Amino acid sequence: MQSLIYKAAFPGKYIQGERALDELPGLVDLFGKNGLILASPTIKKKVLPVYDFKGSERGILLEEFAGECCETELKRLQGIVTDKKIDVLVGMGGGKTIDTAKIVSDRAGIPVIIVPTIASTDAPCSGCALIYTEKGVFESVYYQKMNPQVVLVDINVIAAAPARFLVAGMGDALATWFEARSCERTLSRNECGGHSTFAALNLAELCYNTLLRYGSLAINACENNIITPALNHIVEANILLSGIGFESSGLATAHSVHNGLTAMTETHAYYHGEKVAFGVLTGLHLTDALPEEMETVYSFCEEIGLPTRFSDIGITNASGGKLMEVAVKACAPAEGIHHEVGRILPEMVLNAMIAADSMGTLRKKY
Ligand SMILES: [Zn+2]
Repeated sequence: MQSLIYKAAFPGKYIQGERALDELPGLVDLFGKNGLILASPTIKKKVLPVYDFKGSERGILLEEFAGECCETELKRLQGIVTDKKIDVLVGMGGGKTIDTAKIVSDRAGIPVIIVPTIASTDAPCSGCALIYTEKGVFESVYYQKMNPQVVLVDINVIAAAPARFLVAGMGDALATWFEARSCERTLSRNECGGHSTFAALNLAELCYNTLLRYGSLAINACENNIITPALNHIVEANILLSGIGFESSGLATAHSVHNGLTAMTETHAYYHGEKVAFGVLTGLHLTDALPEEMETVYSFCEEIGLPTRFSDIGITNASGGKLMEVAVKACAPAEGIHHEVGRILPEMVLNAMIAADSMGTLRKKY
């Protein structure tokens, strides 16, 4: 057997709290001389006017994100970074803005400060990003040399965003422990190309326990646009615990089923974390999880409003053939689903998806 190398990756600093964005000017000065904020138009209009970034010694430039993390946009921004001698980049917004900032900074060899404005996925802390075509079709995964130097989470901004983002983030975070556990059972490689450390495994488990304990309290806070300790705990679970957990402990069924589901156009209106949550349920059926554990996970999803049925992710009358396409895609050779115990075949995934949906449907009837 090949000897194991333990690998883990972390962001340089993680800062979260009320008006955390007030720390941005100081951080820009710490890392460079000429800072540039890349922000989506919405963030430019709604968030930036609330803060005074003139605190930075030299002022921070602002550039609007064009909307897609594609080579055209990456090259445009690389040009700006070179022309204006930018030596620290700030990515502020949702997933695509953040990913674009990560790639541009990596290619330019300058530090990046990531400011997620929603807590809908666990991507901010990670050292990878997704590149799409100009039309938004997935092209490739880009791995950076290092994880972001800083992840700065302003809880006021997160609390002001729609609660559905937070719920989707909990769906993504829900997968972390189950996928980590699967990789550990089969000694599979994590996203850093090594074996999981105690640190990452324990953070993945802490992520799961935090969701169960504080999930519904956090939604209450977010729906009322108020900040509470529970909201802080869930934002930390969604962004930091899940971020380290997935990258340093590995992926398995939940994300493969998500990737399979993207083949069905009817699921496109649903967020990453919502489809991942259905993948978690599928994984429980696929891996013969204990009924008590299924009870806990289904109850959690029902309580916070995560999908438990096909109809919750837009699939209303799918034929067996269409679902089989999803299962085949989920079982593609490079997929994390092969980190599960035994040989996983599309037929088994199809059955697990149908079992997941029918259990969800049955539970909603009573
Ligand atoms: Zn994910």
